Amino acid sequence: MSKSKHVKVVLRTRPSSNFAQDIINFGLDKKSTHIHIPKDTEGGYINNQQEDWDFKFDSILHNASQENVFEECAAPIVKGLFDGYNGTILAYGQTGAGKTFTMTGATENFKHRGLIPRTISQIYKDIADRPQTACSVRVSYLEIYNEQMIDLLSKNVSENNSQDQFQIESNLNVVEDKNGNSNVRGLTSEIANSEEEALNYLFEGETNRSISEHQLNKSSTRSHCIFTIYIEMRSRVESSEKVIYSKLNLVDLAGSERLSKTHTTGVSLKEAIEHIPYRQSKLTNVLRDALGGNCNTLLIANIWGEKEHIEETISTLRFATRMMCV
Ligand code: ADP
Ligand code: MG
Repeated sequence: MSKSKHVKVVLRTRPSSNFAQDIINFGLDKKSTHIHIPKDTEGGYINNQQEDWDFKFDSILHNASQENVFEECAAPIVKGLFDGYNGTILAYGQTGAGKTFTMTGATENFKHRGLIPRTISQIYKDIADRPQTACSVRVSYLEIYNEQMIDLLSKNVSENNSQDQFQIESNLNVVEDKNGNSNVRGLTSEIANSEEEALNYLFEGETNRSISEHQLNKSSTRSHCIFTIYIEMRSRVESSEKVIYSKLNLVDLAGSERLSKTHTTGVSLKEAIEHIPYRQSKLTNVLRDALGGNCNTLLIANIWGEKEHIEETISTLRFATRMMCV
C-alpha cells in the first residue's frame, strides 16, 4: 500500500426487493452513480429542486457478496499491516443501510460473515505463512456512546453476569504515544493466539454490547463500535531487536441520520470525522492516527436505494464525496 493520505471511499448498496433502479443508476465503470428524480412525477422525495446528481467514488459494490467486499476493501489493508502500515475501515450510513452487515455480518451463516471475521481469518493465515516472524495478536473492543467510552471486553462485564455490574463510567482516556499513535489507556486488550480466540472476543464484545444496551436503555444505532486488532512482529531469524507494530481499526459508526441536517464543506479528514457524529470528540481522538501517512483509511458508505430513503442516500453520497477530497 502506498503512503498516500488519500482516503479510499467505496459505496456499498443494500439489495432491496423494491430497488429504485429508475432513480439510482450505477455506471459500467463501477465507480460512478447517477441519480435522477423527476420533478413532476414523484416529487417531494427531496427538499431540493435539483433533479440530477452525479457521484464518483473509488469503487461501487452493488449486489456484492461479503467475499467481494472483503477482497475489495479489507484484503489490501490487511496486507499493509504486515508491512507496518496501520489501517482504519469505517462503515458509514443511515440505520438499516447495512453497516453492521458489512462489518460483522450474519455470523450464523458462514457465507454472510462480514469484514471483521474475514479479516481475523486472513490475519492468522498470513501469520501461518510467515514462519520466520514471531507475531503476537491482541484485540480490543470499544464502544462510544454519548461521548462515553465503554470497554466491551472489560472483565467486570463478563465475569459478573449480574446486570448492575455494568460500568459505563470507566477510566478510559485517549493518549498519544511518541510515534503519534492514539491509544485508549485503560482499554482491555486481550492476546488472541488463534482465529477462534479472536472470534470469541468479538462475540464476547457483541454480547456485552447488547447487555449494556439493554441495561443502559441506549440505542445501538447511536453508538460507534471500534474493534481493533494489534499485531506485533519480530524476526525469528535476525538477531536485531526490531519490532514492527501495526493495528487495524474496524469501525461500525452510529447511524448517520441524525447528521443529515449538518451541511458542511469540510475539507480535512479531521473535519470530516468530526462531522460523522455531532460534536464527537472521543471518536475523533480515538481515530486521530487514521489521519497520518502511516494509515490506510477506507470509508464504506452504505446506502439503501429504496425511494423512501433517497434523502438519506443523497446525504450519505455527499458525505462520502467530501471524504474523497480529504
Ligand atoms: P445498519 O447496521 O446500517 O443499521 P444492518 O447491517 O443491521 O444495518 O442491516 C439491516 C438489515 O439489512 C439486516 O437484517 C441485514 O442483514 C440486512 N442487510 C444489510 N445489508 C445487506 C446486504 N448487503 N445483503 C443482505 N442483507 C443485508
Ligand atoms: Mg448496525
